[in-house]
This record gives sequence, C-alpha cells and structure tokens, in this order.
Amino acid sequence: MHCSRIRTALSARLDGEEPPPGLTPGRLDDHLAGCRDCRQWEVRARALAAGLGRAAAHPEDDPAAADALLARLRAAAAGPGASGAGTGGKRAG
Ligand SMILES: [Zn+2]
Repeated sequence: MHCSRIRTALSARLDGEEPPPGLTPGRLDDHLAGCRDCRQWEVRARALAAGLGRAAAHPEDDPAAADALLARLRAAAAGPGASGAGTGGKRAG
C-alpha cells in the first residue's frame, strides 16, 4: 500500500468525502498503526483543516489569521524536512 494513496484517502475522510474505492476506514487505520509518517501527516492535515474551518467561518474576525494560515500551508507543503530551521519562537496563546 502506497503512502500517497493512504494520504489521498485520509484527506478525503477529513473533508467528509468518500474514500477511494478499496480503501476502507479499517485499512486506513491499519496503515496508520504501522506508518509513523502517515500518522504525522494526518495530524498536520487535521490541524490545517481545523485552521481552515476557523478562518472560513470568521474571515473578518482576525485578518492576521489568514496570513498565519498561509504561512502554515506553505510550511506544510514544503514537507517535514523544511521545519526545524527556526528556533526560539514560542507559540503565544
Ligand atoms: Zn504511510
């Protein structure tokens, strides 16, 4: 089972869409149980989905949130190897 297919299915599940044929929730969970990379990917995807949901629900609530969200999306798109360069920053809130 390829991780890319698993992640496609995980993304669909997060969006409330039907998973690709043959990829049942049980199979996804099976793969997640044995694949640390995909578990971390799902955690990031969930966080992004939650952030997107908040931003979409209250776009004018916090204009700065959109910039922060974009930055996070770029970091996520760059992959796990891109993180860790900056140190010393603490999350406020
Ligand atoms: Zn995997």
